[in-house]
Amino acid sequence: MDCLFCQIAAGSIPSKKLYEDEQILAFYDIEPKTPVHFLVIPKTHIASVSEITAENSAVVAHIFEVIAQLAKKLDLKNGYRVVSNCGKDAGQTVPHLHFHVLAGRELYPDMA
Ligand code: 5GP
Ligand code: ZN
Repeated sequence: MDCLFCQIAAGSIPSKKLYEDEQILAFYDIEPKTPVHFLVIPKTHIASVSEITAENSAVVAHIFEVIAQLAKKLDLKNGYRVVSNCGKDAGQTVPHLHFHVLAGRELYPDMA
């Protein structure tokens, strides 16, 4: 198992956890780009958004339910951005599906 986020999901590499259940893990980004910056991943290996299928997409819906709950828990009432970089041009550096949640300051209006 040489996937970094599979190892974080398994607990063999430590992370600052925010939420965990059988299916998913939310943890703080090691290099935060905003005052609040966490990642939400499925525990099963899905390489990127491109690998989401009818068979594995239930976990993606679950991830978004939990993001909505965490936003309430962390009181992100001024808003937040959810981003998933997919592939080379988007700058994906870890090939395990992850959703960035960025908050804590006004975000740049130009998304690209
Ligand atoms: P990507 O560039 O693939 O969209 O996002 C990968 C993210 O993972 C980056 O924001 C990076 O800071 C974060 N990251 C990389 N390695 C680690 C790690 O070992 N622990 C944590 N918590 N985050 C990491
Ligand atoms: Zn993985």
